[in-house]
Amino acid sequence: MKLIWKPFTLQFKHPFRIAHGVRSSTAVMYIRIDHEGFSGYGEASMPPYLGESHESVAAFLGRLDLAQFKDPFDISSIMAYVDQVADGNTAAKASVDIALHDLACKLLGKTVHAYYGADPDRAPFTSFTIGMDEPELIRSKIEETDGFPILKVKLGGTNDRLIIETVHASTTKIFSVDVNQGWTDREYALDMIYRMKEMNVSFVEQPFDRFNLDDHAWLKEQSPLPIIADESCQRYTDIEHCRHAFHGINIKLMKCTGLSEAKRMIDYAQKCQLKILIGCMSESSCAVSAAAQLSPFAQWADLDGPLLIKNDIFEGLKFVCGKITLSGLPGNGAYLKETVFD
Ligand code: MG
Repeated sequence: MKLIWKPFTLQFKHPFRIAHGVRSSTAVMYIRIDHEGFSGYGEASMPPYLGESHESVAAFLGRLDLAQFKDPFDISSIMAYVDQVADGNTAAKASVDIALHDLACKLLGKTVHAYYGADPDRAPFTSFTIGMDEPELIRSKIEETDGFPILKVKLGGTNDRLIIETVHASTTKIFSVDVNQGWTDREYALDMIYRMKEMNVSFVEQPFDRFNLDDHAWLKEQSPLPIIADESCQRYTDIEHCRHAFHGINIKLMKCTGLSEAKRMIDYAQKCQLKILIGCMSESSCAVSAAAQLSPFAQWADLDGPLLIKNDIFEGLKFVCGKITLSGLPGNGAYLKETVFD
C-alpha cells in the first residue's frame, strides 16, 4: 500500500464564530492510499484549537510505513500500528482510517454502511450550524437554512440569552445548542436550560470545561434536556468517565482516530444507554461522507461541514430536506471532483 498526501485549505462561506474565536478557513490534509489499482481517500481537518497543522500531519504521515502491510482488509492491525506511532495526532490518524475504509470497501464493491450493517433508511437529519453573531446576522443566516428543519446554535459568549431569544423568535424549527465549554456557573446553566426547554431546544452540548465532570454530573441530574459531551469525550476510553456525567456523547472521526474507533464507541455507548450524536469539524465531503456511513446508529447528526464551505473538491453525501441520504457508491460514498494529487 502506498500513501500520498496533499495540504489544502477549506474556505468558509461566512466567517465562523464560536466560543474559541472567529475564523474564515480551516487547514485540511487530503490523503490517498493506493493498492492494486484502487485508491482510498481520507481527510484530516485541523481547527487551530486542537493543535494539529499541515506540518504536524505531514510529519506524522511521513513516519508511517504502510508498505509493510499486504492485506488492506486488516484495518484493525493497521490502525493499531498507526495509533502507537505517536500520541495525539488524532486527525492525522483519522485520515488514514478513513482512506483504509474507502479502499477496502471499494475492493469489496461495498458501501461502508453495508460493511458495518447500518440501515441507510435510519440515517438521521443533520442540523445546520448557526455561529455566534449579532441578531440581524442570525436572522439572515436562519433564512439561508431553508430545507434544513433542525438548527444548531453556538453559545458560550456574553450574548447567549439574546441569541436564543433571537433564534426562537425567528423560526419554529427545532434547535440544539452547543456551549463549547463556555459556561462556568451551574445555576446559570440550569436557568438557561429551563428557558430553552420552552423553546424547541432538543439538547445541550458541552456546557462546562471538558475536565469539569462534577458540574456536568450535577447538571445531568437536574436538567430537563439531555446534556451531551463533546470536548469531554474524545476517544473510546473517555466514555467510562463521561457515562455518569452526560446523557450522551458526540462522536467525531477527527477526535477518535476514525471509523474503526467510532464504531467501537457507538457499540459501547449503546451498551451504556448513552445517546449518540455523530458530528464533524470543519470538513469537506470526503471525511463527512465517511462519518455519515455510521449515522444510522445515531439519534442525532451534525454533519453540515460541507454546507459551510465554498471550495469542496469532493462530492458525496446528500441531504434531502435535511435528511442524510447515503449513496450506493462503494467505499465512503465520496469521489474527488478535481485533480489534487498529481
Ligand atoms: Mg461541539
